[in-house]
Amino acid sequence: MPAASVSSAGHAGADRPELGAIRESMLIDGKPVREGQGEPVAVYDPATGQVIAHQPDAGPVQIDLAVQAARRAFDSGPWRGMLPAGRERLLLKLADLVEQHGNELARLETLNSGKLLGVAQGLEVESGAQWLRYMAGWATKITGDTLSLSIPFPPGVRYSAQTLPQPVGVVGAIIPWNFPLLMAIWKIAPALAAGCTVVLKPAEETPLTALRLAELVLEAGFPPGVVNVVTGRGETAGAALVAHPGVDKIAFTGSTEVGKLIGRAAMDGMKRVSLELGGKSPVIVLDDCDVDRAVQGAAAAIFFNQGQVCTAGSRLYVQKGLYAKVVQGLADLAAGMTLGSGFDPATQVGPLVSARHQKRVMDYIGIGRAEGGRVLAGGGAGEGAGYFVQPTVFTGLRPDARIVREEIFGPVVVAQPFDSLDDAVLLANDSAFGLGASLWSNDLARVQGLIPRIDAGTIWVNTHNMLDPNMPFGGFKQSGIGREHGRAVLDLYLEKKSVCMAY
Ligand code: NAD
Repeated sequence: MPAASVSSAGHAGADRPELGAIRESMLIDGKPVREGQGEPVAVYDPATGQVIAHQPDAGPVQIDLAVQAARRAFDSGPWRGMLPAGRERLLLKLADLVEQHGNELARLETLNSGKLLGVAQGLEVESGAQWLRYMAGWATKITGDTLSLSIPFPPGVRYSAQTLPQPVGVVGAIIPWNFPLLMAIWKIAPALAAGCTVVLKPAEETPLTALRLAELVLEAGFPPGVVNVVTGRGETAGAALVAHPGVDKIAFTGSTEVGKLIGRAAMDGMKRVSLELGGKSPVIVLDDCDVDRAVQGAAAAIFFNQGQVCTAGSRLYVQKGLYAKVVQGLADLAAGMTLGSGFDPATQVGPLVSARHQKRVMDYIGIGRAEGGRVLAGGGAGEGAGYFVQPTVFTGLRPDARIVREEIFGPVVVAQPFDSLDDAVLLANDSAFGLGASLWSNDLARVQGLIPRIDAGTIWVNTHNMLDPNMPFGGFKQSGIGREHGRAVLDLYLEKKSVCMAY
């Protein structure tokens, strides 16, 4: 079986940031806090396995400090009385600062997460700045409604009524490691546009860019305590944040398993909660498509960011007449990909985020083989100390195989043929998840017929993984609750108050 090549061990050198510049502290109430509880968390460079920092593991004491700071900033600080145009101006300033420090942020992201430098630059920094600017615009456009009431009591009394949207309060935001800077921005930008304050907990694997972002938040002029970043493990820092009674809303992105825990815990305090969770998104290739485009698209859908994308196209369904051609084309592309450091411009596939995650993905590849799957490309770990996994294409698995049903979150795709469009719908919807799906076809009537029948929060046609700040995003079924981006995201950060006046 062909295997992807490994470009080089370690890094290309020049672009790698100096470790001395990394600050090993949280940012609470505008000040660095170094003390956590117990053992600090080691932070790694996934391309080499080298420890690059130690971050505090925040316990209930530090979480309380952060929530109190966010509470004060929300309840009584200058933030509370700031006009919407003031919030807009600060968010625009933050977008400028993210761009000005883009090179530094992107290099820090590549060092800490392993992703390709171009992806860190384009997707985390540049689109992060775009998201901030888009959300800045909403700060001045939050409106309520004027309502006409029909109740005729008591006779002679008339009513005027309106809805008044208000910020929900202190937001506890918990994010994963796959797009650390962008996920932090996806949480803080709408929360700040709405007038909330935030305690953000990045993933323990990738806290560095969120911490740097918090410094830029201060530099932009946001009052201390409006954005606080705490670091630490999920079961300690994350759980303490979810349990804290001073938090009004939990905004979570991560796995479905942890999302369920968080949803239940949030309910205990009746906190508002939004959940962006896992996926197992289908790529559906019809026999009238542009084949080259579909093959390239299917490869990008699963191998982009090493498959560590919640909407990764991890199930490939191809109509029978094209099945052999598309699957072989995909396997050839996978086998030709170059693995290596994200700093090396020749690299197409970087390392996975951690040794633990590499083992998890390799275990799934083992399960797929044991279930009778045939590996058409990849199937192995990369060489060297980095956490590499080869882009892997499986065929020959039954729809009830574990690797067809469970989210792997790595560069592993399972291909299956289908006959009719009805079969494609059945296969695509035969999943606990419903985050994204893509259709590859040039027949508008077939595409339009399929779109309403696929259970997914986003349907792409002849593209995959395309997101925009103006396009609502979220999951059907076990992929989550709520919609981020667009106007829809404001609902997650606003309470609607009804006001009724008799006259
Ligand atoms: P994860 O669920 O393990 O962790 C996510 C975050 O939750 C981390 O910050 C972690 O520290 C924290 N956490 C873990 N246990 C916790 C607990 N008991 N209480 C509070 N916090 C806790 O997910 P991950 O491995 O970091 O990320 C991968 C997952 O994220 C995948 O399932 C992926 O699909 C999902 N994801 C979804 C989206 C989306 O928008 N739908 C986007 C990116 C990633």
